[in-house]
Amino acid sequence: MEPIHPSRAEPARSDYDPNSLTVEQARQLIQQFLEPLTGGVSVDLADALYRTVAVEILSPGDVPPHDYSAMDGYAVHLADVAHGPARLKIAGSAYAGHPYDDRVEPGTCVRIMTGALIPPGCDSVIKQEEVTVEDGVAILVGGRRHPENIRRRGEDMRRGSPVLARGQLIRPVQMGLLASLGLTEVQVYRKLKVVIFSTGDELRPPGTALAAGQIYDSNRYTLLGMLHELGGVEIQDRGNIRDDPEHIRRALTEAAVQADVIITSGGVSVGEADYVRQVLEEIGQVAFWKIAMKPGRPLACGKIGACHFFGLPGNPVAVMVTFQQFVSDALRIIMGRLAQPSLTMQATCGSAIRKMSGRTEFQRGILSRNGAGWSVCATGDQGSGILSSMSLANCFIVLPLAQGNVEVGAMVEVQPFAGAFKSF
Ligand code: AMP
Ligand code: MG
Repeated sequence: MEPIHPSRAEPARSDYDPNSLTVEQARQLIQQFLEPLTGGVSVDLADALYRTVAVEILSPGDVPPHDYSAMDGYAVHLADVAHGPARLKIAGSAYAGHPYDDRVEPGTCVRIMTGALIPPGCDSVIKQEEVTVEDGVAILVGGRRHPENIRRRGEDMRRGSPVLARGQLIRPVQMGLLASLGLTEVQVYRKLKVVIFSTGDELRPPGTALAAGQIYDSNRYTLLGMLHELGGVEIQDRGNIRDDPEHIRRALTEAAVQADVIITSGGVSVGEADYVRQVLEEIGQVAFWKIAMKPGRPLACGKIGACHFFGLPGNPVAVMVTFQQFVSDALRIIMGRLAQPSLTMQATCGSAIRKMSGRTEFQRGILSRNGAGWSVCATGDQGSGILSSMSLANCFIVLPLAQGNVEVGAMVEVQPFAGAFKSF
């Protein structure tokens, strides 16, 4: 984008439309028709990644199940090392998985490795770096008042204590946590059945030849990617539906009895061939909204029978913006997931941005670390069909409704993209 010289910048124009909803209003309205899944299924722990816990999990035992050494060193009686230097005969060794079972008499100690059970009678572990050994005798400095280097039974989780709440998303750490409890299966909500399709006579699947006026269908692929990233979904890709009311009716009514959610792209604006709207008015309870945002103005939301329906705009970047701003959170709610805060941050704007007031804009940006702080620049062409500038981006620059042009150096809000940054 051409930088705008402040003195030559046009006065910000307004795009205020009294008939459109704000992004926030649309988010709230969507929440009202969402019906979360009920009932859990049992899955193997190894298959539980990105599923949602359906029944609260309590710890079936203490973790760790016993007191063990946190260091390589010598297990001792604290009383032996409380005062002056001590010379303790080494009675034997304890290894992880191979305990020393005999009682350790006062005046003796046991060589112990990290992870080994604390031998009977011992109540402290002195690190090996602090010990010298001569002829089977450990020589230790005294003055030790408190037990050291012991991981206590139950210090991580106590038997009966809550571990994972209903609605918790299972990430890698939760898989490990459940394994540490000895569990092999977990009750999760069943996968959300999501049917996706595109609409439009101009669309052809990749791998086929294009005739005049045709383009490749990219939206199904971005939707597939975004749904996979969300996890917990079983996706049925039903391809493209022609701009024909009969075809659309058949496809939607069939999908509505099979799926929990239908997501379409295209055909929800007011163009002449936009039959999706017409059909939905007949077969469903679907609201068609104009949202004061760019990209992504038209959006259809509602139900066809018991099935949730989201009709996204056709333009490829508008599909991504509306999915990320509205649909992904809605799907999380339907999946029964607990609310997760979304990551936003402030950054210094490194490029001037033309912006009309009266609409929220999601500009594609490149966020980078700049000395002490973060700075962000718009990626260039912000047309709602330009996927290449979306591909360059690693964040949205979110410019609120009332905001006009943005000057270089202004602070702006940024939403980093999932997967664009190294994260945990
Ligand atoms: P529509 O809302 O159906 O009028 O579509 C708006 C614009 O997005 C048109 O230029 C369509 O050709 C384009 N479009 C719609 N669906 C897709 C798709 N699946 N892949 C790529 N472009 C699309
Ligand atoms: Mg169309």
